[in-house]
Amino acid sequence: STDSSGALVKAEIDVTALQANAAALAERLAPARLKCVLKANAYGHGVDIVARGLFAAGWRDFCVATIGEALHLREILGSGVTIIAWLYGPTTDLDSALAAHIELGVSTVASIDRLRQAAERTHTTARLHLKADTGLGRNGLAPADWALALDQLRTLGDEPDPCIEIVGIMSHYAVADEPERGETAQQTHIFDLAHRELNAVLDDAEGRLGESDRLDVHIANSPAALTLSPFPGTCARVGLSLYGLSPLEDQDSTDLGLTPVLRLVSQVVNLKDIPAGHGASYGLTFTAAANTRFALVPGGYGDGIPRTASNRAEVSIRGTRYPVVGRIAMDQMIVEVGAGEVAIGDEVVLLGPDGPSAAEWGDWADTINYEIVTRISERVERVEA
Ligand code: PLP
Repeated sequence: STDSSGALVKAEIDVTALQANAAALAERLAPARLKCVLKANAYGHGVDIVARGLFAAGWRDFCVATIGEALHLREILGSGVTIIAWLYGPTTDLDSALAAHIELGVSTVASIDRLRQAAERTHTTARLHLKADTGLGRNGLAPADWALALDQLRTLGDEPDPCIEIVGIMSHYAVADEPERGETAQQTHIFDLAHRELNAVLDDAEGRLGESDRLDVHIANSPAALTLSPFPGTCARVGLSLYGLSPLEDQDSTDLGLTPVLRLVSQVVNLKDIPAGHGASYGLTFTAAANTRFALVPGGYGDGIPRTASNRAEVSIRGTRYPVVGRIAMDQMIVEVGAGEVAIGDEVVLLGPDGPSAAEWGDWADTINYEIVTRISERVERVEA
């Protein structure tokens, strides 16, 4: 049979595994609730397949970074889900976000007023999660700005219809993947204080700015959700482990009871006998030590496969691991199969449960499993397994 799509590298998405991971994580978190993080094309897995798979299993709480991502999610999942976005700039169109009932993280004092005005224009109420920077130094209101933001909310709370509802308080950990470090407890402590201050402001406003006892309280990411006890907050924003990958150095997916969702596959499109002394790929950085056999495998940095893994990576063919030799090019790589039993047309597992893991690729490419899956490019066709 022929393949009309022409795609040579495919990412097979195991929706059943995704749904099982979500269920396992939710059970672990209970009574705290799971918010599914689908930013960056669902960590490279393909947001359409992932969002629909989670929706079909009953999940209704989603998070992304940008408003563009949020609007796309709203388009594919409709009005019955909650979507939070937290990353936007001073010129980002907030009207369309509010019109689509996207909930927004608030990380600058100035955005409170912008959001109030946008809510007035769009005849909506801006549903906001006040984001505290508790130590990461990235997005979120730094302590001085936190105080200013609360002052601003106090003033708004005097108005009969402030057009703003505070529905959550959020923050983000810096070192939750290193459970032995003390900064996580310190961040939780600062978050708790900020939470108390916000509650006081909401209570003083007597419901006009939202209800303190109904706030979504969320600071935990995957590593925090998997390690912290007692659990901080009423929900967790979980990304990586939803996809069955481990955020912890010393534990893999199996240890955590999770199944990797993505399998990146290619195929052998050419085989050639190579004499000893022959080089491989740009720069001829590899030379065959003895007579051998090269398999040509579509898949390169144009597909998001890191070139820095050249001469280090391995792939799996018929259950056997073979080395990637020479530089990984834009579209293809060379795999030394030697005397191994390999035929043209054989499936090549580049990454997945029956091939190298995202963590192994991270080691080969001097990066982390998060980046390995997220960088899988648009050329790679995502298919439901
Ligand atoms: N919350 C925020 C603000 C994030 O930036 C991220 C991802 O980096 C997450 C939650 C999810 O983190 P993880 O993938 O570790 O679960």
